[in-house]
Amino acid sequence: MEAPVGQKSQKLHEFALASVSDLAPSSSSSDVASSSPPAIARFGADCGIPELRFNMECASGAVVNVDLRTAKLFKLGPVSSVCIFRASDISKEYSRGVTIRFRSEEDSTAFHYAFEQLKKDCVIQEAQLANGAPSASKCKFDDKIEPSSAKMYFHYYGQLLHQQNMLQDYVRTGTYYAAVIENRADFFGRVVVDVGAGSGILSLFAAQAGAKHVYAVEASEMAEYARKLIAGNPALSQRITVVKGKVEEVELPEKADILISEPMGTLLVNERMLESYVIARDRFLVPNGKMFPTVGRIHMAPFSDEYLFVEIANKALFWQQQNYYGVDLTALHGSAFQGYFSQPVVDAFDPRFLVAPSISHVIDFTKVEEEDLYEIDVPLRFIASVGTRVHGLACWFDVLFNGSTVQRWLTTAPGAPTTHWYQLRCVLSQPIYVMAGQEITGRLRMVAHDAQSYTIYLTLSAKMWGPGAEQGGILQTSSCKLDLKEPYYRMSQPQAYALAQDQQPNQLIQTQDIPIQSQDLDDIELLAQPSPSSGAQLNTLNG
Ligand code: SAH
Repeated sequence: MEAPVGQKSQKLHEFALASVSDLAPSSSSSDVASSSPPAIARFGADCGIPELRFNMECASGAVVNVDLRTAKLFKLGPVSSVCIFRASDISKEYSRGVTIRFRSEEDSTAFHYAFEQLKKDCVIQEAQLANGAPSASKCKFDDKIEPSSAKMYFHYYGQLLHQQNMLQDYVRTGTYYAAVIENRADFFGRVVVDVGAGSGILSLFAAQAGAKHVYAVEASEMAEYARKLIAGNPALSQRITVVKGKVEEVELPEKADILISEPMGTLLVNERMLESYVIARDRFLVPNGKMFPTVGRIHMAPFSDEYLFVEIANKALFWQQQNYYGVDLTALHGSAFQGYFSQPVVDAFDPRFLVAPSISHVIDFTKVEEEDLYEIDVPLRFIASVGTRVHGLACWFDVLFNGSTVQRWLTTAPGAPTTHWYQLRCVLSQPIYVMAGQEITGRLRMVAHDAQSYTIYLTLSAKMWGPGAEQGGILQTSSCKLDLKEPYYRMSQPQAYALAQDQQPNQLIQTQDIPIQSQDLDDIELLAQPSPSSGAQLNTLNG
């Protein structure tokens, strides 16, 4: 637990003691009464240093401050203990001891427990300082995530430019702001935990809404910037504590009434941060506490996009050269073709490319178990609205802030204002043909991997029409395997889409493959180039 500069001490635990007296009175402790007056012991963390403070209830009102990092506590009897710690005056450092008399055995047990808990925090903090990492200790996160992936991940989020990219997604940040401010009642006077606080923006929103205290937990170096940002807002900083570390391993001094977080990645689940959100729920949230967001939904629908299909297929044409500086490249054409189709496409597309009403898979963040997110298996069934060639499955998500006052959705749907998540499309290397009214079935299986992402297995099937169908319903089935970690960011200017692909669904009917010619390649490559201002490079992750 760490506190930003200028922050008031957090009252963690307070104990009324029968008495406190010096073990061996020394010159520097002369102001502590040795006649054993009653005292109050308070555990706290002023300026981020865990400490224990004894306030004597005597006329002099003497105070003893114990730096918990140096302190040891020994039980002398059921209601008496000794605390030894390092103390200093202007000229020297020395060991000092106080005898503590408790009012009851229960008080003694509770005091020892609080002492040990805070000592544990000190050990974690020292490990953080020594290793430059949030903790050296193993935790659930470390058990399932490849260290090199985690390192890159937190390095990415440690940079202000990536936090800025998220802050400048006004659909995202504005919806969070509205959801918090419109539901002031859910925050006012409450304890809040901001799970993955980044710049601290959501903590500041919660404090604006009147939160009693916000714990902003952030594992990356961004925690330092969050501290600065929060300290720069003194009206709110008193009520925010930045805690640097993973939500899987930090300890917080009290339970939260509400969690706020922005754990969504591409396709909702990329980055596997939803699992951290759920772990934070189980570790920090009071029973029936609130979660902002509360629910997430992955929406899916088949799409038809001939340009996209040709663009991807054409990328592998390079490997069909038989005389590349005298070398025949064709041996690798198949692998390159596979490789391009294993990249999910991230861009904003026109919703008119959808060929059937979407279906959704709901994840209730208040109920889902962390393990449920390791494998997400969604059966698919659609009824095609038009006859066309289906090139794959389009996916997007939304999340609900189920406030007591207002329910607000943050959507990343095609056709809605674009967010930095855009939408995601899984493209089949073998498109399937459908007629209007025809059933499309299949399965979307997402299996989490240790690089904080998912392997996606997609299968789409449709019965053949024409003579084949009448003879017993032959299925066309097309499958693909994609890595959500390796998307193809295809940011085009919206105008380019409007001009090139402004087609009504009923104009999409295609029964022939488009012949792939080299001059098409040039045109399509032009279409696909991200513009220098599109920010494509900024979006390798999606907090
Ligand atoms: N809440 C901020 C940042 C969201 S991005 C905002 O809305 O602008 C997600 C943040 O969560 C990143 O800064 C990332 O470093 C942090 N994060 C991800 N997993 C975490 C974990 N397990 N523990 C702590 N922080 C985590």
